Amino acid sequence: MKRVLITGAAGFLGSHLCDRFIKEGCHVIGMDNLITGNLANIEHLFPLNEFEYYHHDVSKFVHVPGELDYILHFASPASPIDYLQMPIQTLKVGSLGTHNLLGLAKEKNSRLLIASTSEVYGDPLEHPQTEEYWGNVNPIGPRGVYDEAKRFQEAITMAYHTYHGLETRMVRIFNTYGPRMRVDDGRVLPAFFSQASRGEGLTVFGDGSQTRSFCYVDDLVEGIYRLLLSDYHMPVNIGNPHEVTIKEFGEEVLEMVGNPAAKLIYKNLPQDDPKRRRPNISKAKEVLDWEPTISRAEGMRRTYEYFKKVVTV
Ligand code: UDP
Repeated sequence: MKRVLITGAAGFLGSHLCDRFIKEGCHVIGMDNLITGNLANIEHLFPLNEFEYYHHDVSKFVHVPGELDYILHFASPASPIDYLQMPIQTLKVGSLGTHNLLGLAKEKNSRLLIASTSEVYGDPLEHPQTEEYWGNVNPIGPRGVYDEAKRFQEAITMAYHTYHGLETRMVRIFNTYGPRMRVDDGRVLPAFFSQASRGEGLTVFGDGSQTRSFCYVDDLVEGIYRLLLSDYHMPVNIGNPHEVTIKEFGEEVLEMVGNPAAKLIYKNLPQDDPKRRRPNISKAKEVLDWEPTISRAEGMRRTYEYFKKVVTV
């Protein structure tokens, strides 16, 4: 039985990864400090013998007894509002946290997969973004704490790979959505679903012409699982290349929720908000034989079922 440590286990992505590794017959050790995670996301796993939970901040020395085959580092505030409110924790978990987990991986001879992000491309000047693009990041802007922590994370992970021969994997995650996203995390999908359900204005930032490309969580988890088991140590984009403007996205949510009181309203565009974002996924196709299979219509339908239960109207 493989033993897997997942940090950020009570978060949106971490909790789905816990489910997947349990399903694959692994023993899963979930770790979280709950600053943005929620135990409700993994409560169903607590009765299982194959699951353990440690409440711990990975920015501090990490100790886990026993062997570890795989470590997946998914702990981090991940929404622009969260990392604006927790800039120091965001920097620490991406840098010190990653360093601690690299040390743990070296000690235990484990394979470490780190969660990187499309934010390493910043406000990209190349479109769509390939893994070879170096990015356009403002280090001292509001998003810098996240972007630079993640860029440092890639750098130190690569150094452990080349210098210590550690087995490492890097996934660059593009916008992902699905059940268990935090209702109030400020990201566009939870914001729009909550506002539409309450019959409020959907807060489109700027003129809504900026684009994102949304990947359903099950597709993302499949890509991450394949990457972990592959022998490829360079970064791989995992995301859905189907691009949409935020205004169109708001209109889709309005139609799906069907609340006549809700409508689009316009607010200021946050500083350094990327204008366009879409992954080039040729590498994932070639190396992992992976591409997304769930359409936005289907993914949104599943996600709306979840938000209907958790949004207080
Ligand atoms: N956005 C918006 N209204 C909101 C929240 C976000 O128009 O209430 C926009 C935001 O400006 C960005 C896009 O939606 O262009 C995606 O934002 P999100 O915070 O979900 O993630 P990002 O991709 O920027 O990290």
